[in-house]
Amino acid sequence: MPRRKAPEPVEAEQEAPAPPPLVPGVARALSPLVRRIVAPNPGKMTGPGTNTYLVGIDEIAVIDPGPDLPDHLDAVSGCGGDRIRWIVCTHTHPDHSPGAAGLKARTGAEVMAWDSRDGLEVDRKLRDGALIEATEFRLQAVHTPGHASNHLCFVLEEERMLFSGDHLMQGSTVVISPPDGNMAVYLESLSKVRALRLRSIAPGHGHLIEDPRGAIDEYIEHRTAREQQILDLLVASGTAKIDDLVEVIYVDVDPELHPVARRTVHAHLLKLAKEGKVKGRSIDGKWTAV
Ligand SMILES: [Zn+2]
Repeated sequence: MPRRKAPEPVEAEQEAPAPPPLVPGVARALSPLVRRIVAPNPGKMTGPGTNTYLVGIDEIAVIDPGPDLPDHLDAVSGCGGDRIRWIVCTHTHPDHSPGAAGLKARTGAEVMAWDSRDGLEVDRKLRDGALIEATEFRLQAVHTPGHASNHLCFVLEEERMLFSGDHLMQGSTVVISPPDGNMAVYLESLSKVRALRLRSIAPGHGHLIEDPRGAIDEYIEHRTAREQQILDLLVASGTAKIDDLVEVIYVDVDPELHPVARRTVHAHLLKLAKEGKVKGRSIDGKWTAV
C-alpha cells in the first residue's frame, strides 16, 4: 500500500498576504460595486484567464465578456441576471469580446465597444469620453490605442477604478503587435492613463493593482529600457534581423514566446525608425542603426 503523503508545510503568516488565487467561474467581490469572474481560458497569453467584471448592483455593466465559452457566460448571467444592461468590450481580441453575442442572447443587454470588428457586432460605438450612466455609477470610456487601435479603458468614477483590458496587465507585459499595435501610440496612451486620478486598476488578466501610478511607471520604464537595449544592440552590430535581436534580448524567456517577442521588437523598431534612429521595415528584413 502506498504510504500517505506527508502534510504540506504551513506557510508562515506574512505582512501582506498574496491575493487568493484566480479561480474560474467563481464570482469575487472586489469593491462595493465590482465583482470579477475569471474565464476558464488560462494560457501563455492570458495568464490565469480573462477577467470579466460586473459593475453595479441594480443595473450592471459587464466589462469584457471574454471568450465564447457557455459555462463562463452562464456564470456571468447567473451572477447578474436580467440586471445586466450593458456589455462593454475593451477591444476585439479573441480572449475579450467573442462572448458578447452569447451574453446578449442570455440577457438582452446592449453591446458596446469602439467599433464592430473581429466578429463583434456593437449596438453602440463608444468614443473617448463616452459615458455609461447607471443609477448607482458612471463609467467613462478612455480611448487607449497601442495594444489594439480600438482599445478602450473604463473609469468607474465612484471608486476611481480603471478597467484596463490589455492596456495594463498584472503579472506580465503587454504585447504590441504591428500594424494594429503601435508602440509610440501605446506609450502615449500610458501617459494618458497616468494622468488620471486612480485608486486601483482592474486589469484584463491578473489581480487587482492597488498602486496605479507605480504600475504605470514600471510599464513606461520597462518599455524605455527595452527600446534602449534594442537600439544599443543594433548600434553595436550595425545591421541585424529581428530574430538575432530576440535571441539576445529574450535569452531568459521561454522560446515558445519568441514569436510574440519578435512582434514587440518589431513595434519598438518601427517607433525608432519613425524617430530617424534606425532603418528597416519588415519583421523578416534587415534593420540598420542610423
Ligand atoms: Zn488583447
